[in-house]
Amino acid sequence: MKIRWKTACFLVVFILDIIFAKTMYLSYMDVKNSLFLPAGADEEAVDEVRRQFSGDKQIALTFDDGPHSVYTPRLLDGLRKRGVHATFFLLGENVEGKEAIVKQMDEDGHLIGNHGYSHVQMSKELVGTACQQIEQNNRKIEEITGVRPQYLRPPYGSWNEELECTTNMTVVLWNLDPLDWKSKNTKKVARYIVKHVEPGDIILLHDVYPSSVEAALEVIDTLTKQGYTFVTVDELLID
Ligand SMILES: [Zn+2]
Repeated sequence: MKIRWKTACFLVVFILDIIFAKTMYLSYMDVKNSLFLPAGADEEAVDEVRRQFSGDKQIALTFDDGPHSVYTPRLLDGLRKRGVHATFFLLGENVEGKEAIVKQMDEDGHLIGNHGYSHVQMSKELVGTACQQIEQNNRKIEEITGVRPQYLRPPYGSWNEELECTTNMTVVLWNLDPLDWKSKNTKKVARYIVKHVEPGDIILLHDVYPSSVEAALEVIDTLTKQGYTFVTVDELLID
């Protein structure tokens, strides 16, 4: 009789435990589903939350003003070693004589975009002149890689929406600027990026400075450990 009483007590406690655990679980799921996604959240917000919480920490490293005869190959080696793809916005006048570097860039799987022919503010140019420069650079890159660039980054981020020659191109700006051209300091640039980066960021760098190349490789090593992956701008924009 004594043993049966104990068994009954045990069973009751056991069943109560199960009921309690189930209730806790259901209320946890309720909170979990409503915590970050308020009813009526638009699709963009839902996507952003999904991106933040799915571990999909993608960012794009972009390099302007190159190629440089020494620092760009150094960067390409570092990226290849790490299995990372980046986006390069090439300056036409710097492509001249460095065709082999551009070919390597393409063969390594990086995305090549257009940064104009010379480093001028496109918004201040005559439409005809600006378009001629963009076209000249597109042709030059296409001659080397066989692919016509589809992405344009105007110098200083300044461009004229009336540039009809760009209607088939996608203008890509940036949202994280460590001002690498100003400090030319590896540690400072790397620290700035690691501190401020968020999933989905397009980071602006210049592969014509050794400090920027070193900083980029340092950032890749640090952020890879934090679960970030590096994609080209087209991959980021498609997502
Ligand atoms: Zn530039």
